[in-house]
Amino acid sequence: MPEETDQSCVFCQVVSGDMPSKKVYEDDLTIAFEDIRPEAPVHVLLISREHLESLNDATHSDEQLLGHLLRTAAKVANQLGIAEEGFRTVINTGPNGGQTVPHLHLHILGGRFMKWPPG
Ligand code: 5GP
Ligand code: ZN
Repeated sequence: MPEETDQSCVFCQVVSGDMPSKKVYEDDLTIAFEDIRPEAPVHVLLISREHLESLNDATHSDEQLLGHLLRTAAKVANQLGIAEEGFRTVINTGPNGGQTVPHLHLHILGGRFMKWPPG
């Protein structure tokens, strides 16, 4: 079982309010807030309130949460007005995945055309 929260974790601090953030959405399970270094006109991070380090740590009991994160990403994209033109969702996992914050998060990027493949 993952720890509920880890106060040494910057995104757990966002959840607790100890780290200020520009929240755009929240519900019982998740919070979405603006990325501090936006890579697109809209760049929001969607996190679970519960501390889960990465997709590598997700278990069967997290499946409902993972599904909720994906559906919520589309809901937040719609709320931010980028859904119709399209948007990019990204989950970086581990060192080769480019993950720098070890608390599962989903990037929501939009407001411009997204190139593929990623670097
Ligand atoms: P990763 O590289 O782990 O996939 O994404 C981490 C993201 O978190 C980066 O895009 C980075 O700019 C963002 N970030 C790191 N620290 C903070 C913070 O304290 N506040 C906010 N709003 N974003 C952060
Ligand atoms: Zn955390």
